[in-house]
Amino acid sequence: MLPQSILNLIENIQKLPGVGRRGAQKLSLDLLTSSQEDYQKIMDSIEKMRTEVRLCNNCRFFAEEELCRICTDKSRDHKKICLVEKATDVLNLEKSGIYNGAYHVLEKLISPIDNIFADSTNLPDLLTRRLPHLISSLKEEENVEFIFFFKSGFSADTTIAYIKDYINEKGWQKRIILTKLAEGLPLYYNPETLDQATMVKAFEDRKTLF
Ligand SMILES: [Zn+2]
Repeated sequence: MLPQSILNLIENIQKLPGVGRRGAQKLSLDLLTSSQEDYQKIMDSIEKMRTEVRLCNNCRFFAEEELCRICTDKSRDHKKICLVEKATDVLNLEKSGIYNGAYHVLEKLISPIDNIFADSTNLPDLLTRRLPHLISSLKEEENVEFIFFFKSGFSADTTIAYIKDYINEKGWQKRIILTKLAEGLPLYYNPETLDQATMVKAFEDRKTLF
C-alpha cells in the first residue's frame, strides 16, 4: 500500500538489530511527517555522530577524542578495570551507579569453535599495552583488579582462562586480582537484561579467582 520510497526506508531501518517492522514503519512515517527543521536536525546529528565518534584508544568505548570520558575522569579508580563484551554493557553498569573504575570493551569473547581467538578481540590491547603500563605505575602495596562482567557461558570461561594463563606466564599474579560476579545469578544471565538490584548485589559480592 505504501509508496516504494517509504518501503525502502522501512526495509533499511529494519536491518538494524532489534528494530522490528512496526518500529521501523513508525520511525519512517514520523520522519516523513516531521517539520523540515526537525528532519534536518536529525539528519545533521546522524551525520555528525558517524563522523565524530570513534573508539577510545585506551578502553575501546565510544569517544570523540583520543580518550573517552571515563578514561579521562580523574575521580575514577583506574586500577580497577571491568572487562565487558559490548559497549552497551558499560552503559548498563554505569546506570547502576555502583562502579567507579575503568573498563575495557573486548568486542568479542574468545570462542575457538567460531574461529574467534584472542587476536580477534580487544584483549591484546589490554594485556600487552594497557596492563604492563598500569602495573609499572603501581606503588608497592597496590594491585590492579580485573572484574569480569560477561554473559555466563563457554566463551566467558575460555576468555577468563586465557587471561589467567597470560598473567601466570608473565608472573603478574601478585600484582593483579581477578574477580567474577557473585554466584546466585541465573546460570545464563545476560548483562543487558539483568535487573538493577540483582546486578548491584552480584557486583558487590563478587568473588576472587586469584
Ligand atoms: Zn576509554
